[in-house]
Amino acid sequence: MKLTCKVEVVNRLHSNLNIKSNGKYIKSTLAVGKEPKGETEYFLLHFSTANKSGTKYRVKFIKQVFVKFINEGKITIRFEDPPHDLCVQCEVVQLKCFLNILKSCITGKAKDVKVSNLSSISVTAIDNAPTKLVIRSRADFTTKGFPRTLETLHIVGIGLCNFRREILSLILLTVLDLSNNEIEKIPYEFARMPNLRELYLANNALGKPDVVDWRWLLGPKITTTLKLLDLCGNKLKLIPNDIWKLRSLVTLKLDNNLIHQLPASLARLRALRYLTLSRNSLESLPCSLFQCSFEDLDLSMNKFDDSISTATNIDYSQWDLCVGSLVHISAKVILKHNMFYTRKTIPWTLVDMLDNAKMCICGRPVLNDIYLYKRINFADKFKGTSLIKNSFTSEINFECYFCSPKCLLKLNR
Ligand SMILES: [Zn+2]
Repeated sequence: MKLTCKVEVVNRLHSNLNIKSNGKYIKSTLAVGKEPKGETEYFLLHFSTANKSGTKYRVKFIKQVFVKFINEGKITIRFEDPPHDLCVQCEVVQLKCFLNILKSCITGKAKDVKVSNLSSISVTAIDNAPTKLVIRSRADFTTKGFPRTLETLHIVGIGLCNFRREILSLILLTVLDLSNNEIEKIPYEFARMPNLRELYLANNALGKPDVVDWRWLLGPKITTTLKLLDLCGNKLKLIPNDIWKLRSLVTLKLDNNLIHQLPASLARLRALRYLTLSRNSLESLPCSLFQCSFEDLDLSMNKFDDSISTATNIDYSQWDLCVGSLVHISAKVILKHNMFYTRKTIPWTLVDMLDNAKMCICGRPVLNDIYLYKRINFADKFKGTSLIKNSFTSEINFECYFCSPKCLLKLNR
């Protein structure tokens, strides 16, 4: 069996001399083999792009195999002679198979397993398992399915209507591009993709059935890794309130949808720097956006100017904000300190309340639903943003929420 993986070779002599390894994992192939005549002497071969003829290690010189992180696809094989540590990174299932074979060679039970002769082991182009695949027509699909080693997958412009479930098994995937298809739904299991950083779903049909199930985007894994989300050119009318869970998100593209209101929770995306919302139906913006540090913000071609006459305010007095309930007060503390909560630790009604929290003009969390529309000069509030694209007059309506009577008075002054 050959294992396509990434390997860093650490020479322990070097570390004794305080020479640091470069920490670079090199694309490699590992194989177990034996001498044609020798029945019991096994070898571990390490091929890499830099070392095509391979390095031969005697299996009997393996001092220890560190498997603490095997479920993350990492092991270290320590040799007595030469004093090398092979740090291996690989897809978990394949790594476990390989380790089983290695184990049977170490324990001498390799008779049940087929181990090739050394002379027949060499690295061919096929062993360099592909990490990138581009599919531009349906003929590009193979019956074998996608290679498990893929890190980048583009399936672009082929009129795909259904999400291909085999993508869910590509656990090494970091970039997925499904632009220019006709996908309406993504299965909720997608949220478990462990390494996805960039997701392109531009020009699909998401949001076509009115109620969108967003579980695919807001699950436990994807929310920690996703940095770029492109949802341009879909049929989305609303963005979910709990979009803030995508805590690594830097770029969010929502151009050319049917969005008429943004959730105030958007400002809880602390890492967000690039937000594009051109060609939507926005009439106002949540005041929480003042708290964001955007590099780019595109708001062109919306309906901000149409809203001048339509937005009406109820006349709130500061007394409406004076006394908060005990639940609201404690919720504010949870939000202020960014405490972790899930449906497993507190009742779901409280989770919903916390997820739907707004933000005051001062940046503090707000739990009540009292808001006023206020025309505010846009450019004043986004001075740090280097590129603002808009096609409206300088003042637009902001939905302003208030944490205290003081903040209400400040705005009405
Ligand atoms: Zn406030």
